[in-house]
Amino acid sequence: FMGMFDQATDVVMQGGMRRGANMGILRCDHPDIVEFVEAKPAELNQIGAIIAVMSGKGGVGKSLVSGLTAIALKRQGYEVGILDADITGPSIPKMLLSDAARPMGGPDGILPVTTLGGIKIMSINLLLQDPEQAVIWRGPLISGAITQFYGDVVWGELDYLVVDLPPGTSDASLTVMQSLPVDGIVLVTTPQSLAGMVVRKASSMATQLDIPILGVVENMSYAVCPECGHRFELFGPSQAQELAQSIGVPLLARLPIEPGLAELADSGRLEEYAGDAFAPVTDAVSACLPPQ
Ligand code: ADP
Ligand code: MG
Repeated sequence: FMGMFDQATDVVMQGGMRRGANMGILRCDHPDIVEFVEAKPAELNQIGAIIAVMSGKGGVGKSLVSGLTAIALKRQGYEVGILDADITGPSIPKMLLSDAARPMGGPDGILPVTTLGGIKIMSINLLLQDPEQAVIWRGPLISGAITQFYGDVVWGELDYLVVDLPPGTSDASLTVMQSLPVDGIVLVTTPQSLAGMVVRKASSMATQLDIPILGVVENMSYAVCPECGHRFELFGPSQAQELAQSIGVPLLARLPIEPGLAELADSGRLEEYAGDAFAPVTDAVSACLPPQ
């Protein structure tokens, strides 16, 4: 993490650390001390398939879809990791971890934090002393952090690595698509036409970079009245089918707004979600990208 530490002094260098060769290790006995050793975890990692979750805009439920896709894959018996590539708005730790765990250093590199359910997670928020601290970095630094989350973290053997992208077609998305061997993209949208318009931009980026789109997930598609069972289409009628067709990919799922889900996601207990709304997404992922 030397690149990060070099410039992001405000953010990460508060703890005082030693400098060395090519990468940083957070020491388990002294979490604030970072030692640098020669190691190349990327050469030891064996990752079956990388799935990036992308959207045109923020707040559509990308992180939730990333989290629940990982959870569903894990429940099917696969080894799963989540790389949180949203450096300025990381939400994966908050959704999946209820205590303030920190990544530890191992002999081969940085060890990701593992959830109760056994999903490995790496996120900038796990490295910050205070999770509310802002990360105010320019593009190259953000890109550096993302490539290090891939290359310098001991992911070990994974069937699937889910990458939670920040919204849009910015630097971070470009870095993920160009520097990580992404096998497929899941596009998340909501029923508003604005979201549809920007998701087309995301799709055209993926196409230009030659990365297959596995399909579209329409989140917040509807809500069900708990009393009468009526289905409300809060944002108007779904345009997901037309959208998916216009991009030329399948519509994987239409997910309802579930109040209980937001509560679990807000308290780090997403793994307690018992519904199977995500089964179609997971099925599509494992059908397109069978574990190797
Ligand atoms: P993004 O990563 O696209 O910015 P998030 O996944 O963080 O969006 O979702 C934004 C907020 O909406 C979160 O608080 C999340 O828990 C909530 N949310 C997303 N989808 C749903 C859903 N289907 N039902 C209930 N809450 C949802
Ligand atoms: Mg997010």
